[in-house]
Amino acid sequence: MTFEEIAELEKKTLVPTYDRLPILAVRGEGCYLYDDRGKRYLDFLGGLAVNALGYGHPEVLAALRDESESLLHVSNLLYHRYQAPLAQKLASLSGLDRVFFANSGTEVTDGAMKLARAYARQQHASSGSFDRVEILAVENSFHGRTFGALAATWPEKYRRPFEPLVPGVRFVRLNDVSHLRDSFSPRVAAVLIETIQGEGGVVPIGEEFLKAAQELCRSTGALFIADEIQCGLGRTGRFFAFQKYGLRPDVVLVAKPLAAGLPLAALMARDAVAQALSPGMHGTTFGGGPVQCRLALKFLEIIERPGFLDRVREVGVYFRRQLEKLQGELRVIREVRGEGLMVAAELAVPGKAVVQGALEAGFLLNCTQEKVLRFLPPLIIERHHVDQLIAALRPILAALPLEQKEEKKEVHA
Ligand SMILES: *Cc1c(COP(=O)(O)O)cnc(C)c1O
Repeated sequence: MTFEEIAELEKKTLVPTYDRLPILAVRGEGCYLYDDRGKRYLDFLGGLAVNALGYGHPEVLAALRDESESLLHVSNLLYHRYQAPLAQKLASLSGLDRVFFANSGTEVTDGAMKLARAYARQQHASSGSFDRVEILAVENSFHGRTFGALAATWPEKYRRPFEPLVPGVRFVRLNDVSHLRDSFSPRVAAVLIETIQGEGGVVPIGEEFLKAAQELCRSTGALFIADEIQCGLGRTGRFFAFQKYGLRPDVVLVAKPLAAGLPLAALMARDAVAQALSPGMHGTTFGGGPVQCRLALKFLEIIERPGFLDRVREVGVYFRRQLEKLQGELRVIREVRGEGLMVAAELAVPGKAVVQGALEAGFLLNCTQEKVLRFLPPLIIERHHVDQLIAALRPILAALPLEQKEEKKEVHA
């Protein structure tokens, strides 16, 4: 089928939840994606932070081939070889003790919310404080689409049509420490925070806010939960974004890049917290399958190699510096943000036309929050890839209405 035929068929047959870019992707190689016409795109979207090793990584493919010939699925009623070593690895990287595997980010977020309630109930059953059920989340956050995670997700357009959601979630103003303190009480079972907000536009949570959240949780035994689904696993040049501040969350959530392109998510928890769940209380059919876990072990082995994460930080600094230079030339860039290779340029105008223009020029990128260009490239990109992107963006941004208007004003002045 041609691209047009597929697009037409999708229009009739899919639930209309996506507004796709007009690309029929057929293969990928390194940092490049190819469409059905053989056109090449330099990928600064990375399958939404999933393709951290780019496309067709030879070691990932070798592990995939080998394991797929042995075992695709066994369910969690049996053992397979790879969950235990992967759990051990994730636990040691995060400073936590135990791991639960699922398939997607939203699932581990829901899992963490369930765990927080179960743990609070277990801790306080004897004292009779059964009302310790609240979850504090942060305004502007995104945690997922299932009912639990959705209740902690800020944009009204995502939540409103589906209400009533899971009760007990309250929002704290972003980086407002006194609002956090006022909102916190012994009724709170957990504080759930994206260390760097991704969908929200690459907005970092401040160190003071994070530390206050951790300290408040420590004061009552509530759980401090770090959602590192987008910012974790090397994206910022550290295994976890929270490590920048020396934080010690009770629960850490990862997903997107974990199995190098296959669905896999993990919830990591302190031992005492994890013990709040017993057989039958929580589970999944597919989560933590042998192929996914083996690929995750390979992924972690690769990003753990000497120099890998240093390079992510280095290229990230270079990337942001080039965007800042562009900001010096063009008024349409309001702010450049980010950490490692989680980077954003906030514009003064909507970014949809920029995404479109970049696509025509052979670059894949994403716009979130209407005006925020968000870059989540494979962690293997190099400076020359960044240079190519900047060179392509310059004329596209310069052609935006704001730049045109400002130019005219100067001419008249
Ligand atoms: C993507 C994302 C999720 C949801 O993950 P899914 O795999 O899409 O369910 C949750 N939290 C954050 C921070 C994310 O970026």
